[in-house]
Order: sequence, then C-alpha cells, then structure tokens
Amino acid sequence: MTTAAAYSVSAPDARFTKTTIERRGLGPHDVLIDIKYAGICHSDIHTARNEWHGTTYPCVPGHEIAGIVAAVGSEVTRHKVGDRVGVGCMVDSCGTCPPCVAGEEQYCDRGATMTYNTPVPEEFQPGGVTFGGYSTQVVVTENFVVSIPEGIGLDVAAPLLCAGVTLYSPLRHWNAGPGKQIAIVGMGGLGHVGVKIAAAMGAEVTVLSHSLNKQDDGRRFGASNYYATGDKQTFRELRGRFDLIVNTVSADLPIDNYMKLLKLDGTLVMLGLPDNPLAVQPFTLAGYRRSLAGSMIGGIAQTQEMLNFCAEHGIGAEIEVISADRIDEAYERAIASDVRYRFVIDAATM
Ligand code: NAP
Ligand code: ZN
Repeated sequence: MTTAAAYSVSAPDARFTKTTIERRGLGPHDVLIDIKYAGICHSDIHTARNEWHGTTYPCVPGHEIAGIVAAVGSEVTRHKVGDRVGVGCMVDSCGTCPPCVAGEEQYCDRGATMTYNTPVPEEFQPGGVTFGGYSTQVVVTENFVVSIPEGIGLDVAAPLLCAGVTLYSPLRHWNAGPGKQIAIVGMGGLGHVGVKIAAAMGAEVTVLSHSLNKQDDGRRFGASNYYATGDKQTFRELRGRFDLIVNTVSADLPIDNYMKLLKLDGTLVMLGLPDNPLAVQPFTLAGYRRSLAGSMIGGIAQTQEMLNFCAEHGIGAEIEVISADRIDEAYERAIASDVRYRFVIDAATM
C-alpha cells in the first residue's frame, strides 16, 4: 500500500477537503505514478455534485492525469521509472469482449473500470471505489497508462487525456478533414481542444458559442467562423451547412435547432452529458437523412495516437493552473463558463 494526499468531497453540496487515501500495492503489471497535474473536467463536477445520480462518497474525482513514473511492477514492459505518462478516464477493462479486442475499451461489454467512482474490490482500492487524479499518486495497470511525448508540457497535456481524446475520437470516426464543414458547439474545455484538433486535421471549423466573447481566441485556435447561438439569425444563416456538428455543451440545448444546421447525411454527435432526454422532431431527422449520434472518450491506443498527433501539431490545452485549495472556486467558474479554457490542479500544492 502507498499513502497519497488527495482532495475529496463528501456530499453533493460539500466543499472539497484535503484527505489521505491508500493506493494499492504494486502488482506485477502496475505502474506507480507521481501525479504532477490533474485537469478539472466538467464530468468531475457532474459526479462530485451527484448530477448523474450514482456518486459514492467520499469521492476523489480527476481523470486528466499527467505525471512521472515512480515505480513499476516486476512484469511491466511498456513504461519505466522517470517516464512522462498520462492516465485518462479508464484504468481497466475486461480485455476480452469484442469492443476491448477492437481497442474500444470505453465500450467494454462488462463496463470499463473508470478512473474514479467505479466500485472495485477493497484489495484493488481501499475505500471500495476508484479514486481519481486529485491526488499526489496513483497506481494503474500498465496497459491503461499512455506516454506523453516530449514537446508537450505535462500541464497542457493533462486535459488532453479526457478532453483531447473525447474530441479526437469522433472527429476521426466521422472523417473530419479537408473539405469537411465541422461545427463545434460550446468552446469550453472540450470544445477549445476540438477546435484545435479539427483545424489541424484540415477541416473548416465553425464555433457555435453563447456569445461572441471568445471569438478572437476561437480564431487563434484555428476556427474559420464563429457565431453566437444567442442570435436567432445564426440558425437561419447556417441552415443545412455542416457535415458534422460536435456538441460539447454541459447543459440542455434545443437540439432540434442544431440538427437543422446539418446538410444531407450530416451527423450531430452528443458529447456533452446533461441528464435530461433530448427532443428531436422526426421530420428534422428524415428531412436530410440526418443522424443523431453520441461518442464516449476514446480507446487507449487512440488516446496514444491523439497525444502523438497533438505533439506533432503543437497542440496543448489552454490552461489556468490552480492550487488544490481552489477546486471549489474553479467549479463555480467552470459552471459560469468563466474558464480559459481548462483548470489544472498543480499536485505539488497538495
Ligand atoms: P466546460 O469546460 O464547462 O465547457 C462547457 C461549455 O458549454 C461552456 O464553455 C459553454 O461554452 C457551454 N455552456 C455551458 N453552459 C451552457 C448553457 N447553459 N447554455 C449554452 N451553453 C453552455 O465543460 P467540459 O469539461 O468541456 O465538458 C462538457 C460536457 O461534456 C460535460 O457535460 C461533460 O460531462 C461532458 N463530457 C463528455 C465526455 C464524453 O466522453 N462524451 C467526456 C468528457 C466530458 P460557450 O461559452 O462557448 O457557449
Ligand atoms: Zn472528462
């Protein structure tokens, strides 16, 4: 067992407090990581506040982890002490079902073990659920640890472990590239990385944001067009425009209005995960043979591919580094869309 400092929350409306947690002893295939940075994803907020109705308390969120390997188990071959590594939203899966065999561990038929808030045996994680990256150390099986290429700082790499792959995966799946009109809805943590990646893939990128406040940033990240969704004219002007719309908004949206912006055979992909059902008119879908889809993070091999792609294209997240005692404040600011564009906790402050 290893003792690590962590920040946990004990109830939906509680503040984060500093605590000590146990990490399991190193098994033969395990890697012990000294966490350097942990991004704050909006999913952390949904979970900490029990907005998805399944949170076990105390909860230690954090699935955008970047750090350095401190020790490895006797059979580990993929990583060695001193390596720069990352851990995203998953720490294990069955490894044998069709999705796992296809490298899509996030869709594991038995349910992947998520980095935090997944029930596990006590010997796997004292406390009975996985504890995430708001901590100084974590133990993860080597196949779920990825390498962070030289050339990306650990701080700006951390958010790529969730936000980066969550955008990269659907952009690849729906063939973003030259000649494709792509809209990114919401330019927060996920959205801003999506703009950078889609532009680097060669697509023409349009941002659909609440307002024009972040327009200069959006264009700097690679967007060619930027529209305010608060302006009704936006929906008239862009009707039938896009091959792919990627919705990263954490709140409910009038999704039918966005579906109408798709061209023939276009797809709107839900990445944002508010808890309410969507309302779509069958006529909107039928009209242009449109599709409504969803996508969940990305597999481990694709996470590595995304990191290599980002290193090659000089892509990192835009971050505001905070000390661990400011997590509550960061949550409030993220909810108010007052973040440019990802809060990242400096684990040295724990
Ligand atoms: P975030 O940083 O808070 O960004 C969300 C953005 O949505 C905001 O910046 C804002 O963009 C827009 N927005 C927020 N509230 C809004 C409202 N009431 N009306 C209209 N627009 C609003 O969140 P994030 O970390 O990017 O996460 C976004 C969502 O994706 C969350 O629901 C999260 O749980 C989910 N998620 C899903 C996956 C997956 O695998 N599918 C992975 C990670 C996260 P503008 O200011 O530009 O309008
Ligand atoms: Zn996330």
